[in-house]
Amino acid sequence: MNFDPVSEAKRIEGEIIAWRRDFHMHPELGYEEERTSRIVEEHLREWGYSIKRVGTGIIADIGRGEKTIALRADMDALPIQEENDAPYKSKIPGKMHACGHDAHTAMLLGAAKIIAEHKDELNGRVRLIFQPAEEGGNGAVKMIEGGALEGVNAIFGFHVWMDLPSGIIGIREGPFLAGAGIFGGEIIGKGGHGASPHETVDPIPIAAETVLAFQTIVSRNVPPIETGVVSVTSVHGGRAFNVIPEEVEFRGTFRFFKPEIGGLIQRRMREILEGLTKAHGAKYELNIEELTPPTINSKEMADFARKVAGKYGLKYGEVQPTMGAEDFTFYLQKVPGAFLALGIRNEEKEIIYPHHHPRFNVDEDVLYLGTAMEVALAFEFLR
Ligand SMILES: [Zn+2]
Ligand SMILES: [Zn+2]
Repeated sequence: MNFDPVSEAKRIEGEIIAWRRDFHMHPELGYEEERTSRIVEEHLREWGYSIKRVGTGIIADIGRGEKTIALRADMDALPIQEENDAPYKSKIPGKMHACGHDAHTAMLLGAAKIIAEHKDELNGRVRLIFQPAEEGGNGAVKMIEGGALEGVNAIFGFHVWMDLPSGIIGIREGPFLAGAGIFGGEIIGKGGHGASPHETVDPIPIAAETVLAFQTIVSRNVPPIETGVVSVTSVHGGRAFNVIPEEVEFRGTFRFFKPEIGGLIQRRMREILEGLTKAHGAKYELNIEELTPPTINSKEMADFARKVAGKYGLKYGEVQPTMGAEDFTFYLQKVPGAFLALGIRNEEKEIIYPHHHPRFNVDEDVLYLGTAMEVALAFEFLR
């Protein structure tokens, strides 16, 4: 590479920030990213990328050769009313870029521009994936079905990260984000008069026992050196003070880092419900949906990212795992790669509110570093 990606990114910093602000002002929810993807596509076409559309998602290629590296950004916003008072605050009531996907899209657009300007120096192909619906929509799966990973040898993605100081690139090998699933069901008893419990099968004490017994899955069944979460987040049953209801509904979420722990949690939930309802003469229904497997970075690709960051003087450090989940996982199940974090926490600028908070914001002054890292990863991988 005959140029410095950091100074090239710094040179177009103003554009990156302007794109981010424009996307921030016009947030679109998952699978509705019409405006965002139209703007992205217009730029990519102008810069000479070949484009394939997958709904509101875009697969864009440049360069040719034996190897292909993919870089991914997500474009969707959240159904949150913004409470920041910035001049570029969301113009759409009830919608907000509260996870930073506006920044991801802008950073990758910046990288796209620089890569296109230096395409003659590319020793292979760069594929950009601008995906819809990361927030619970598994847009990554749609992109893979649309051919996003065909011929790809490695993939990298960035997430801006409130738990890291501004400007630090967080690189981790192994498990980074958790696997996530949801569950819902009901305990079905036999309703009746509140004064005649003996003539009923009261689902309320069974539900109470169930919630408590679910707490023992992580504390008593998951091995202590492993980790997991089981949270019952909703319980509903009955309306009147003198009526024993027929059933109690419940819902919740579970998280894990190892597939076998995810399996164990699901098996124990079933066994507990089976046993408790049998003991009390009730019935149950349980629906479990595994949404996202854990995000596990390849050691080789994490090492490569550290080497690249070091070579270009980009500050990096270890990032702690979280029980949040990311559909980038689905790419990593097919090709080696790493999901990287870019620290955006800046106390002086009051950029401290967590992801998905109505006052979430990003330190725009470090976005060019994400762009620089993406460019550097592409050119170094294709050497
Ligand atoms: Zn999010
Ligand atoms: Zn996100």
